[in-house]
Formats: sequence, structure tokens, C-alpha cells
Amino acid sequence: MSNEAILRFNGATKRFGSFVAVDHVDFEVHNKEIVAIIGENGAGKSTFCKMLTGVYPIDDGEMYFEGKKVAYKNTTESMRAGISMVYQERNLVGMLTGAQNICLGNEPGKGFISERESFEKAMAIRDRLHLTIPLDVPVSELGAGEQQLIEIMRAFYTNPKVLILDEPTASLGEGEIEPFLDFVKTIRNSMDIAVIFISHKIEE
Ligand code: ADP
Ligand code: MG
Repeated sequence: MSNEAILRFNGATKRFGSFVAVDHVDFEVHNKEIVAIIGENGAGKSTFCKMLTGVYPIDDGEMYFEGKKVAYKNTTESMRAGISMVYQERNLVGMLTGAQNICLGNEPGKGFISERESFEKAMAIRDRLHLTIPLDVPVSELGAGEQQLIEIMRAFYTNPKVLILDEPTASLGEGEIEPFLDFVKTIRNSMDIAVIFISHKIEE
């Protein structure tokens, strides 16, 4: 691609003590592109992505977002900039509804937003993603695939320009994988976004 990468990392390196989890990785992704990062368990995929979102500090290497050198200190900073990640570990509060989970933690400084406000905001995100999952039931009552889509909706709360999905197919059943991959392609086709798709096996 000839246009500039929306996100680029030169020589990304992350150490845990003397163990090098991510060793001088060069990476870039463009708007409207889905880039898959594939590797076996323990290869450093999640660690690399957590460097992109500020969960881990960058030990070595330079990260550029929209052409500017960045080093996020936390996920609030990276999300504000336009990078959202759906973590490999589920991050939902089971007794709260989908709408509440989608808004949870997304209103820093504002304290809380009303039930009606959170529902409307969540509905707008759901419509934008052309999903039909109920938002008014506790997420513990939803299936694994639906819970994951709630997390993806939460990632869209901040209108990301880069969406990172860490092993999204790992929690899906056989029949759920194809529709999910179609969903990701639809997102990419219908909005200005870049997707980083992590997997430990080749899907397609
Ligand atoms: P992947 O996502 O590709 O399965 P990870 O990024 O989770 O791999 O882990 C890469 C390596 O770094 C593994 O060997 C793992 O044990 C190690 N690791 C990951 N997180 C930590 C941590 N917080 N502290 C120490 N070691 C870690
Ligand atoms: Mg991982």
C-alpha cells in the first residue's frame, strides 16, 4: 500500500526480567486493512498488543500512530487516541447488562451516566455494527460469542481507528467462526478502521 500506515512499530521489544517476550518486531497496519498476527501460544502476541495500548511500557523500539511518535502510559490514553483492544481474557461484569458493560469505565471523570443514557449509547453502537444482541439482560445469560460481541461494542465506544482483537475466535464454537470473520470484514468495509486480528491458527 502506498499511503502511510496508521500505526507503525519499529523494533518493538518487551522484556520481563531477563526474558525477552517481544524481540525487535517491525509492524505496520493501514486504514481499511485487516492484519493477522499468528503464532503459537507464548509467542508474544498479547504482549505486543498490550504494548500498543499502553498496558506495558515499551522497553525498546518506536511506535508511531498517524505519523506521530507515541508512547501511551495506559489504556485511557491509547483509547482516547483511537486504539481499542478486545483482550483475550473476558472483561465483563456478569450481573450487569450489555448496555451497562459497554459504558462501564468509558465515562472517566463523568462519574456515572443514567440507565437510559447508557442504553441509548449502547443501542447506537449496536446499530452501527449491525448487531442484534439484547442489551438489557445480564451478560452472564449470554453465550460466549455474544459476550465477545458485547466487548467489541464496548471497544467501539470511543470510535476507534485501530481495533485489536486478541484471539477472538478462541472462545467461539465451530459454527460461530465463519459468521464472526464475515462480521469483521463487514466492519472493515463499512468504516474507516484498521483491524489487528490475533490468532494461534490460520483461519482463512
Ligand atoms: P501469546 O499471546 O502469543 O500466547 P504472551 O504475549 O501472552 O503470548 O506471552 C509471551 C511470553 O511472555 C510467554 O512466555 C509468557 O509466559 C510471558 N509473559 C507474558 N506476560 C508476562 C508477564 N506479565 N510477566 C512475565 N512473563 C510474561
Ligand atoms: Mg495471547
